[in-house]
Amino acid sequence: MKVAILSESPADEAAIRILADAVLGIKTSPVSHVGLRERGWPSVRSVFPTVLKQLHYHSDAEGLIFVVDSNGAIVHQPDHELSGKFHSGCRLCELRRIRDEVVSQLRLVAGKSKLKTAIGLAVPAIEAWLLCGADAHVNEAAWITGQTNNSFPYTKLDLKKKLYGTERPSLGMETRRMMESSELLAANLSPLEKAFPSGFGALENDLKHWK
Ligand SMILES: [Zn+2]
Repeated sequence: MKVAILSESPADEAAIRILADAVLGIKTSPVSHVGLRERGWPSVRSVFPTVLKQLHYHSDAEGLIFVVDSNGAIVHQPDHELSGKFHSGCRLCELRRIRDEVVSQLRLVAGKSKLKTAIGLAVPAIEAWLLCGADAHVNEAAWITGQTNNSFPYTKLDLKKKLYGTERPSLGMETRRMMESSELLAANLSPLEKAFPSGFGALENDLKHWK
């Protein structure tokens, strides 16, 4: 199955593919596409509709996986979904709203089914997911408590230091370390599901609907 993955960096995308393959139970293959020229929010939000249309009409992609970092923005919660509402300020809700609107307008292309999509929210960044099992203090609940009390338990830089041993890893080192960690998590996803029920849970839930 050909699946495009968009995230904050090529290293993140390599790690996400390993985790997604574990959820899907298959080995997906990449799609050559232009990707994202600008990686930060809100640029990714504004190019998202174009990316969805390009992949559907002009590529052989069957699916798109999109994972964004929450950074300091609010973390998605189940009550955001009550009565089909979307919570403004929640990046996951924003992307879902855009996705639903664009996908509902996609025309069918002969010989192709509609583009499948899966959206995840890394809280606050993908390094947190990849430290799962290595650091019990890194999880969504700790982050949300810190956000409520205006005292975050760690920064993105702390997470980088923990995962790579340095704040400024080379892309090669970052990719290697991220892939090692995601291979370990892929063997048993339940700790990741427990520690990151909203952001990883959302991704997993979307992917399970692909089958
Ligand atoms: Zn939300």
